[in-house]
Amino acid sequence: MGRWRSSSLTRPARCWSSWAGPHRPVSRRPCLDCGVLTRQGSRCGECGAKRQAARDQQRGSSSARGLGYRHRKLREIVLADSPPCHWCGDPATTADHLVPRSLGGSTTLDNYVPSCRPCNSSRQDNPDWIPPNQRP
Ligand SMILES: [Zn+2]
Ligand SMILES: [Zn+2]
Repeated sequence: MGRWRSSSLTRPARCWSSWAGPHRPVSRRPCLDCGVLTRQGSRCGECGAKRQAARDQQRGSSSARGLGYRHRKLREIVLADSPPCHWCGDPATTADHLVPRSLGGSTTLDNYVPSCRPCNSSRQDNPDWIPPNQRP
């Protein structure tokens, strides 16, 4: 079997033992972005950090995320009993700031009122806004 012998010659025995042993070296892989050999996974440290920064930017800053979460929780509480809109009495589906945030209104429960979507979106930050059913 000349063929068998030649194939065994291409793989020296000492090489086999070092690869199969418990101290097998961590293999380096080329970074997916720049091609530099790395042990850190799919990308080198630099490219991994860049990707992380880009992801953070997409999600917005951590404080903006925190506010969004707070707003969602307060809205849940305000809408828990399916209340009527504070302005027109229609079923409320959103929460509105009693004092607009642009005028210093806080993101706290006592500054939240239930609001229907049309009222909320037409009122926006206008403090002089009058609900449709209270207009002369
Ligand atoms: Zn890289
Ligand atoms: Zn309304």
